[in-house]
Amino acid sequence: MAAIIEPVLREQLIERRQRLETAISGADEPVRLAGLLQEVDAALARFNPDTYGLCEVCHDPVERERLIADPLVSVCLGCLTPAQQRALEQDLELAARIQSTLLPPRNFASGGWRASYHYEGAGVVSGDYCDLVSAEDGSLYFMLGDVSGKGVAASMLMAQLHAMFRMLVSVGLPLNQLVERASRVFCESTLPAHYATLVCGRADCSGELEICNAGHLPPLLVRGGDVSVIEATGLPLGVFCNERFTTDHVRLSQGDALLLYTDGLSESQNFSGEEYGRDRLFKLVGERPALAPAELVAACLKDLSAFRAGMPGTDDLTILALRRAD
Ligand SMILES: [Zn+2]
Repeated sequence: MAAIIEPVLREQLIERRQRLETAISGADEPVRLAGLLQEVDAALARFNPDTYGLCEVCHDPVERERLIADPLVSVCLGCLTPAQQRALEQDLELAARIQSTLLPPRNFASGGWRASYHYEGAGVVSGDYCDLVSAEDGSLYFMLGDVSGKGVAASMLMAQLHAMFRMLVSVGLPLNQLVERASRVFCESTLPAHYATLVCGRADCSGELEICNAGHLPPLLVRGGDVSVIEATGLPLGVFCNERFTTDHVRLSQGDALLLYTDGLSESQNFSGEEYGRDRLFKLVGERPALAPAELVAACLKDLSAFRAGMPGTDDLTILALRRAD
């Protein structure tokens, strides 16, 4: 495990070391920076393929996500002192509070559309991304994505997606260009192993829906009792810096709905190891075509809970429903 990420982390550390040396030469407080330089050197000294990424205390592997977030980490979670564990818990609680402020109102209405969602992390924070934005022209932008990985590192990437899309939506770019710019910034500013699957859509007041699906699970389109899917039209965000994206257009009539979700729903398992699956979701949604978004999301959660029968979820879970008002 460590062998895969080691070259990237080593490169990062060498770059940080160079920056530190430059900073020390012109710093008012060279002593404080020199301490950090010693830490970086100690981490570089640990870059032996046999020992890097192993806990200094118990010699088990240090958690991968923590190493990516901070290559200087040398002790696994289990070997932290009680004081260190408390500090970490407080950090996580704060991160969760910050993440909750990035979410839109639970029940959202804009331009003749109603929307509602459920957002739940596998841990304290989530790597799923969900947002709803009213544009100046009255149209509704909706975004739902899933960042590679889980935990704090994924939640930081989620926050980055949130900031980028909020900014790009306000510029008023065509939808495909909006996603292309987001993908380029995401690719240039994250580690090579990081990417995000994402659906970005724009729903206008006349019922016209434009949608760009960057490698995400296909949203379900519900017209009466008929359920169909809008397939992916591109690769996930951030795989290549110059990716191109296309969009699909669909017109929704009054009462038609759209359901988006992350794999925390479709790939959720019960105690027998069976997956919840898309077929079960199709059936559920097709039998309840008249539900309002909040009711549809609640019905999905109830059915998922019945399927799991007490089996805890292991992945971040987000469900977003949109409906054109009657
Ligand atoms: Zn340990």
